[in-house]
Amino acid sequence: MEQLSHWIDGKHVKGSGRSADVYNPATGEVQAQVPLATKSELDAAVASAEKAQPAWGATNPQRRARVMMEFVRLINRDMEKLAEALSREHGKTIPDAKGDVQRGLEVIEFCIGAPHLLKGEFTDSAGPGIDMYSMKQPLGVVAGITPFNFPAMIPLWKMGPALSCGNAFILKPSERDPSVPLMLAELLKEAGLPDGILQVVNGDKEVVDAILDNETVQAVGFVGSTPIAAYIYERGCANGKRVQCFGGAKNHMIIMPDADMDKAADALVGAGYGAAGERCMAVSVAVPVGEETADRLIEKLVPRIEKLKVGPYTGGDDVDYGPVVTAAAKENIARLVQSGIDAGAELVVDGRDFSLQGYEDGFFVGPHLFDRVTPDMDIYRKEIFGPVLSTVRAGSYEEALGLAMDHEYGNGTAIFTRDGDAARDFANRVNVGMVGINVPIPVPLAYHTFGGWKKSGFGDLNQHGTDAFKFYTRTKTVTSRWPSGIKDGGEFNFKAMD
Ligand code: NAD
Repeated sequence: MEQLSHWIDGKHVKGSGRSADVYNPATGEVQAQVPLATKSELDAAVASAEKAQPAWGATNPQRRARVMMEFVRLINRDMEKLAEALSREHGKTIPDAKGDVQRGLEVIEFCIGAPHLLKGEFTDSAGPGIDMYSMKQPLGVVAGITPFNFPAMIPLWKMGPALSCGNAFILKPSERDPSVPLMLAELLKEAGLPDGILQVVNGDKEVVDAILDNETVQAVGFVGSTPIAAYIYERGCANGKRVQCFGGAKNHMIIMPDADMDKAADALVGAGYGAAGERCMAVSVAVPVGEETADRLIEKLVPRIEKLKVGPYTGGDDVDYGPVVTAAAKENIARLVQSGIDAGAELVVDGRDFSLQGYEDGFFVGPHLFDRVTPDMDIYRKEIFGPVLSTVRAGSYEEALGLAMDHEYGNGTAIFTRDGDAARDFANRVNVGMVGINVPIPVPLAYHTFGGWKKSGFGDLNQHGTDAFKFYTRTKTVTSRWPSGIKDGGEFNFKAMD
């Protein structure tokens, strides 16, 4: 059984106490154990990061960027290895695992431009003989707490900007799939990052609380479920830290009567069932506008969903999605599906009896499609985080828009239409952070910013793009006036200062 470690001061360090099982979700077997750090282990990791940080913060930004440049090369070199380790612990297919790494890598590429992003403002002659300028300085030691569903991408979104700004960074990855974050730490060392600047401290609530209570940690970036996001935001803010937390989602896709129905159905199948629905940008609610649109959509969806191939990541290129992450996740999905049936929704595609020969103990869930879901049902209100798509039939565009607006989550949403006016109106009015127009998963690229609204995001800055550089720096503004100096002529007499 593989014993995983923490990564402290540039090397693997064994845990000293509790540990958790890490599963292979395809087989249901425990394949490794991850240590769960104590408060004192976290405090020691932070203390040594604090010692290392000033030299890194004083390193010129171009040299820091060169570490990121080399990191990009090394991630590309090890892409296959990273994707395999990721799939083995998470369950997603290899091409999807590569996408997970790639979307993180793109943020590291963006970080190579840090010297430009860290430039301050300057006003020449703001008053007589006065210049005014601002500096963007690192915060010191900062932390990131990340979820299981993107074990490469989200740690990279956090560590890239934090480190490029000159901070030391404490990463607390998900205890369900911690291997890839540890591999990334090894690569950063190989890329030239000094020891102590990135510490990977594995663990659960105990170490999260220790991060939130540690006085040295200046900022915390969190991604995960909404109840934990709210908790971390409150406790971190109460302790005087800068905190940004990104939570759960229930992303609606509106299908107008004039949409290209084949394209809409293809988009829904990819966005609804890809990665077994375990994406914060998954579309989990389809909202066809009008009964006829709904009937046409369901007719197109059913054969596509029935054709989906569910299998292990080792199952070949035609596997569409893999298992969910744990047995508990599988049970939760089954419970919610049952609640939908009990509440009167129509289960049009029933994945309940799905089983895969040779993988009976794996955490596989067959695809489900619900029709005639209503907003009072749990399957509509709650994030299922599984391969379950709910259809809510709307009578009009306004009703469809209202559904997306009234839902407590506001991460992503999409509209499929050929009508530019409807698309424009939707993008303007909807109270959701990321909007797709004929694009089902509108994940902004690295040089834009990523973030949801309402219960999907707590705090005022987004992830990656220029916002990440704001989050991981603080601004100092200097007003300077120099007295007349040597240019006015030398002073040759020894006299007291006045
Ligand atoms: P999670 O909330 O269970 O865990 C996230 C992190 O919090 C992990 O590191 C975990 O160890 C820690 N944690 C868990 N319980 C805790 C507790 N009681 N106290 C303190 N820390 C705790 O989330 P998850 O299941 O790993 O990830 C899936 C969730 O993340 C979904 O809700 C998904 O929508 C969301 N997500 C959101 C985004 C986004 O950008 N909005 C992106 C990816 C995932």
